[in-house]
Amino acid sequence: MAQKGLPIIISAPSGAGKTTLCQALKKRLPDLNFSVSHTTRPPRENEQDGVDYHFITKKKFMEMTDRDEFLEWAQIHGNYYGTARKNITDTLQKGKDLVLELDIQGVETLRNLKYRGVYIFILPPSMEELEKRLTGRGTESDNQIKQRLEAGKKEMAKSRLYDYAVTNTNVDESVGTMLAIIHAEKKRMSRYQPDCPEIRKIIESGTA
Ligand code: 5GP
Repeated sequence: MAQKGLPIIISAPSGAGKTTLCQALKKRLPDLNFSVSHTTRPPRENEQDGVDYHFITKKKFMEMTDRDEFLEWAQIHGNYYGTARKNITDTLQKGKDLVLELDIQGVETLRNLKYRGVYIFILPPSMEELEKRLTGRGTESDNQIKQRLEAGKKEMAKSRLYDYAVTNTNVDESVGTMLAIIHAEKKRMSRYQPDCPEIRKIIESGTA
């Protein structure tokens, strides 16, 4: 049986640079897949349906929750976000690694489900820098920035839920750290399957 793909769960306080890091990661690992969530949030300028998110109505979202189609879902800043089971299962079964960008609620759900994967939390170098980045991107009002900073503090307070921390001071360095984490996790004996069928069989049988 082919090796199952590795789910890579990534979270960050708003403004810590998750989107930039994920884009850079994709460039370094072109075969890496990214889960496309469903959301009721309206698309931002330059966001594409089916690429950045599946943009759906609240009614459709609720129908999907009723049919238990989400592995996890959460209400964030007044909108709903969810990970459809089907999309991610298909990708992982094909042996492809998959990034899930989730908020802390999603991670709490997955941890409660004992969902296997590598959980990475991205931290800003300082609160001052986080505020500077949020202000600098100019997409939120002062009030929204305040709310996001408070939400960010709450997320950081729960960051022990994750396996790894990456402080994003410099994009290249942070991506290097993320690559090292992913490479090491894929070599974990518990999930490692060597290419050679004969050796794989010996390892799987546990006897010789
Ligand atoms: P944004 O609206 O800025 O794209 O995302 C807001 C937050 O929702 C981010 O923290 C993002 O990681 C999170 N998010 C995106 N998709 C999902 C999802 O399917 N489930 C959960 N729990 N969080 C998500």
